[in-house]
Amino acid sequence: MSSTSGLQEYQRESGLTRAARRAARGFAALPALFTFTVDVEEHEGGSRAREQTARLLDLLDAAGARGTFFVLDRVARADPRLVTRIARRGHEVASHGHVHQPLADLAPDRFRAGMATARDRLANLTGAAPAGFRAPYFSLTPAAAWAPDILAELGFAYSSSVLPAWNPLAGWPGAPRRPFLWPCGLLELPVPVARLGPAWLPFLGGMYLRWLPPWRLRGLAARWTAEEAAGGALWSYCHPYDLDEREALVHRPDAGVFGSLMLWLNRGPMLPRLEGLLHGRRSVPFTARLAELRSEARAWAAA
Ligand SMILES: [Zn+2]
Repeated sequence: MSSTSGLQEYQRESGLTRAARRAARGFAALPALFTFTVDVEEHEGGSRAREQTARLLDLLDAAGARGTFFVLDRVARADPRLVTRIARRGHEVASHGHVHQPLADLAPDRFRAGMATARDRLANLTGAAPAGFRAPYFSLTPAAAWAPDILAELGFAYSSSVLPAWNPLAGWPGAPRRPFLWPCGLLELPVPVARLGPAWLPFLGGMYLRWLPPWRLRGLAARWTAEEAAGGALWSYCHPYDLDEREALVHRPDAGVFGSLMLWLNRGPMLPRLEGLLHGRRSVPFTARLAELRSEARAWAAA
C-alpha cells in the first residue's frame, strides 16, 4: 500500500523541478485551500513589475490557480494595461495603497483622498470597485488604528494588512491571528504567522519564503496547521521583485544597507517554492472566500 501511494505521489510530482518537489513536500501539512496573493509594486524608478508579474500569471495558469493581486496606485497609473491583464486572466484586483509608505506616516485625510483616487482608478480599469486593501509593509499597526474606518467609508469590504505579532518593521502584537471584524464592520485577514522561538514569522511570503531553509519552512508549516487551522485563513504573499534575478541592486532607504541586500539576494528559490506551494493545493481569490470568512469571524466574535 505504502509503495503504491509512494509511486502515485512520485508520478503526481514528476512534472515539477527538484526544488519545487522539495518545496511541495515541505508544505504538505498546510490545508488544501488557500489564497495566493501578490503585492504589485516597483522599486523606486523601476519598470520591471510587468515582466515579473507575467511570470506569476503564467505560474498561476499552469497550476489552474486564481489569486488576489494588490496593486500599488503608482503602478496602476504607470501601467494600466498590467491591471487589465491581471483581471482578464481571472484574478482579483485589489489595492496596495496610493503610496508605498507605512500607514502611520500618513495623515488620515491624505490617506482618505489617496485611497479614493486609487480605488477609482482600479474601478475604471477593471469595471468593479476593489473589495480589498493591503497596507504597505503590513503597516496596519496600533499607530494607524484610524485606517479601518476610512477603508469601510470608501466601500472596501476587507483588509489584509495586520501582522499579528511583534516585528521589526510593523506588527500589532496581540491582534487576533484569525480573520476578525473591526468595529466598523471591515473584515481583517491577518497574515499567517508561525512561532519560531520567541518570534512569530509571516513565513509564507516575501523574504521569509526566500531565505528560510526548506526544513525550517516545513516545521513552520506544520506548526501553523497545528496551532492555527482551527480559525486561521491561509494565504501566501510575494512581490514581482521576489523572483527577479536580473534586477540591479537597489538601495532602499526604508530598508537600510543590510535590508537592501537581503531584499536583493536569494531570489532564485522563490519561483520553485511558489510552485511547490501551489502543487496539490487550490488557490482562490479572497473575494471567493469572503462570505465564509466573514461569517466565521462573526461567529467567533459572538462566542
Ligand atoms: Zn508592498
